[in-house]
Amino acid sequence: MKIAVLKEPDPEEGRVAITPETAKRFIGLGATVLVEAGAGVRSLILDFDYSMVGAVVAETAADAVGDADVVLTVRRPSQDILSHLKKGALAIAMMDPYGDDAAIKAMADTGVTAFAMEFMPRITRAQVMDVLSSQANLAGYQAVIDASYEYGRAIPMMMTAAGTVPAARVFVMGAGVAGLQAIATARRLGAVVTATDVRPAAKEQVESLGAKFVAVEDEEFKQAETAAGYAKPMSAEYQAKQAALVAEHIKKQDIVITTALIPGRPAPRLVSADMVKSMKPGSVIVDLAVERGGNVAGAKLGEVVTTPEGIRIVGHKNVPGRIAATASQLYAKNLFTFVETLVDKKEKVLAVNWDDELVKATALTRDGAVIHPAFLN
Ligand code: NAD
Repeated sequence: MKIAVLKEPDPEEGRVAITPETAKRFIGLGATVLVEAGAGVRSLILDFDYSMVGAVVAETAADAVGDADVVLTVRRPSQDILSHLKKGALAIAMMDPYGDDAAIKAMADTGVTAFAMEFMPRITRAQVMDVLSSQANLAGYQAVIDASYEYGRAIPMMMTAAGTVPAARVFVMGAGVAGLQAIATARRLGAVVTATDVRPAAKEQVESLGAKFVAVEDEEFKQAETAAGYAKPMSAEYQAKQAALVAEHIKKQDIVITTALIPGRPAPRLVSADMVKSMKPGSVIVDLAVERGGNVAGAKLGEVVTTPEGIRIVGHKNVPGRIAATASQLYAKNLFTFVETLVDKKEKVLAVNWDDELVKATALTRDGAVIHPAFLN
């Protein structure tokens, strides 16, 4: 059983799919582990650290994938790499499955069996493999760190001999995994935190973190959660009521962090240009949904925009990748625990159980076809 791990070709992707800890555990399962030279450097892991635990450092990606049975990456591997793989090899990554059907089809055509980690079901057994949660949690943390960097003032209240500094007011929009961590981080820094969401279950979670919940709590709100725990798209009427509430609240905020997403759809627009304008000069907005179209008018992917009124809108790409070493540690653990379920530990060989719900949920391509239900009409 050969497991290959590649260096991410995008220079802005600092994460890596294996750590020395998980490499050691793969070797313990009977695998030979090949890691492309330099793969871990941007996550503070040297080639030497991998060789110390018994992994083989391969000069190039092509050397690493040679006759690999499993290829692990952070992002979807390039078509060139996929074409180097033997038929039926497993490619496991965050495949970004929506939005580029042609690329997914081309991946199927290479004959690899691809698994999209984003499709991991959110059930107790799979919590340890849940890449969306492990990465969103870090994005929520990093959003507050990025906001505090752009905010030219202190966050906590300070009473000093030279005067009193007021606590910053932080408003978190969307209280899922990222939003809850943003609330917790802002509270730890001493901010006065409020938060909103359309799912009623979020209220108690927000309050348990010591923040105040602000939302339009009407009949539609009571029904806004799907059976899978996600938000439903809200009606135009609800959105208008929500906008009026947010417009009043946002004026008084110093920092706004938006995280609202709806699976398989563009992010809902929650902050209009007028709302941005109504904020005080020096206020900061971090739009964590910018890669999915953005929650905030004026947010630009990969940029920090300063409006004429002096409000900064932060639209960093790949926010978990800004804290790459920690993101890699958690992502690599997510991958290891999934791959472990694909191995016959006695025989020390790959043995994919196609009846396993985790396999069925995450398998994207097999035997030359796209097989995930999300792509079958
Ligand atoms: P997400 O990334 O899809 O969305 C982020 C948040 O935005 C959600 O809380 C959503 O309700 C909110 N949102 C959407 N539209 C909004 C709007 N118009 N206004 C305000 N907020 C809006 O969500 P997520 O972080 O992936 O979490 C989704 C759910 O899954 C949560 O209930 C979470 O607790 C649950 N979850 C369960 C598990 C598990 O059981 N293993 C793991 C992770 C998350």
